[in-house]
Amino acid sequence: MRPCKAAAHNKGMPTSRQPQEPSRFADLGLAESLVTAVTSLGYEEPTPVQRETIPVMLSGRDVLAQAATGTGKTAAFVLPMIHRLLDEARTAATAEGRKASGRRVTRGLVLVPTRELAMQVAEATHKYARGSGVVVLPLYGGASMLQQIRALERGVDIVVGTPGRILDHLRRRSLDLQSVRLLVLDEADEMLDMGFAEDIETILEATAESRQTALFSATMPPRLRSIAERHLRDPQRMTIAGEKPAAGKLPRVRQVAYVVARPHKAAALQRVLDMESPSAAIVFCRTRLEVDSLVETLNAHGYRAEALHGGMQQRQREAVMARFRSAKADLLIATDVAARGLDIQQLSHVFNYDVPSDPDAYIHRIGRTGRAGREGTAITLAEPREHRLLRSIERVTRQKIEVGTVPTVADLRAKRLELTRASLRERLLAGDLDDVRVVVESLAAEFDILDVAAAAVKLAHSSIQADGEERDVPAPAPPREGPSRSAPPARRERPQSSREDTEGHAVARLYIGAGREAGVRAGDLVGAITNEAGISSRDLGAIEIADRFSLVEVPESIADQVVAAMRKATLRGQKVTIRRDKDATAS
Ligand code: AMP
Repeated sequence: MRPCKAAAHNKGMPTSRQPQEPSRFADLGLAESLVTAVTSLGYEEPTPVQRETIPVMLSGRDVLAQAATGTGKTAAFVLPMIHRLLDEARTAATAEGRKASGRRVTRGLVLVPTRELAMQVAEATHKYARGSGVVVLPLYGGASMLQQIRALERGVDIVVGTPGRILDHLRRRSLDLQSVRLLVLDEADEMLDMGFAEDIETILEATAESRQTALFSATMPPRLRSIAERHLRDPQRMTIAGEKPAAGKLPRVRQVAYVVARPHKAAALQRVLDMESPSAAIVFCRTRLEVDSLVETLNAHGYRAEALHGGMQQRQREAVMARFRSAKADLLIATDVAARGLDIQQLSHVFNYDVPSDPDAYIHRIGRTGRAGREGTAITLAEPREHRLLRSIERVTRQKIEVGTVPTVADLRAKRLELTRASLRERLLAGDLDDVRVVVESLAAEFDILDVAAAAVKLAHSSIQADGEERDVPAPAPPREGPSRSAPPARRERPQSSREDTEGHAVARLYIGAGREAGVRAGDLVGAITNEAGISSRDLGAIEIADRFSLVEVPESIADQVVAAMRKATLRGQKVTIRRDKDATAS
């Protein structure tokens, strides 16, 4: 891995710090409980913005950072915030952390432009604070004021909110910011674009001057600089962006990105894999957990994927690599850390399941394909909010990333038909058809010769056709611009036949290719599924047995696990087809 290219600047002057080798979370000075929290989330190493920001924030200094969404900046400010609150509470033996009444007072404040971001940041804070006892509350417009007031009365350590709603609470005196020790302005340029400049100033003035302040923004327009000058004290300036790579370093790679909403990423990846038919490929993920879950999903859908991450022992990794080299596996699903140092030749494709958090990581990843003069392909799945990261990668690499649309079911069918045509052509050129010519001749006496040929093509084609469970991946909603971004997020359209159980959990319906005629009874299905998949019968929903097939509902979260387990099992002594019912939730 090349050294990190995040450049830290002090008052506009580059610091003397050299680009660092990748460090570990444990080296950043964070409390052990926080290191444990991120490790258990599957993070293997800090991203550049985390490496740069965390030590500075821990030292108590103000920060002015230019960094885009998707770079890991939430953890970059939330982790030190939690650390500092824990530290203070410990040294002041609760005197600071709680009022005389024993109630918590708000000591951390994060201002964000939108309701969605408030929810996301609060959720992330909650995850990182697990085990730390720190309480976080999101405050945004459109939600019940009364509930928010009650939660504030119970006491919270960290508030994450939109400026408008925070101001409402300040005016009603339901929120007191005098004890805020650490204040973060996240996506500050967006907040200005949305007309929150004055609200921000009012909120800043409602806090004590002794607070520590960090401002994160993708861009630094003059108005933002002026706010920073007035409200930040001698901030450490940072620009988290890659440097221009050396000429000739960039491989010849076709680069494509697909913008897909998170819930549809696994389905989109499968569609793209089918369309591209890579001979050997790596799919890069951000975390170990993502690696494991993607491997499970892909294998349940018939791919041959193997996991490779830092949590595996050297022996396991070598075994995986051996299977990959001997073509027993076609796909490696890996984190950056695990793939580092691997000498893998001849990758036809590199997939980025997430946009890498810095351009350097992107360049490093895609450099694994397109070697030895061959053209490689790098495909990135980006969530709509990660568009900006793609642009910053383009700026650094000075290469265009083409934005494609996820292949449709119709595209795939056309591609498969083309494959059939190509193999028939090859067959015709190879000759040696005498032994089957007699079949054609005898049928030609009865049917038109073109119809005979068409029927033969259909037969040949059906062998490579999928089983009809494919559905199109919905295009993401266009990004909402300007003030409307603070409106409630549009409800995501669920696939029509997706279901929820009475408690609102997603349910998947599985199709099993045996029914009444094969003597199948509900007890057989329950027995087979619970035994094979190791789940409880209470997890099973409705069971429907038709003459030739059965349908069983299971929680969406374990659907792929059940399919994988049942593929190896028998029902009434017979191997049976099992798959997601084509009318059920797409995975
Ligand atoms: P953010 O830029 O804060 O929105 O983070 C983008 C995504 O990166 C989130 O899904 C985080 O969970 C994930 N993430 C943050 N830090 C790391 C890390 N060090 N390693 C892996 N994933 C991370």
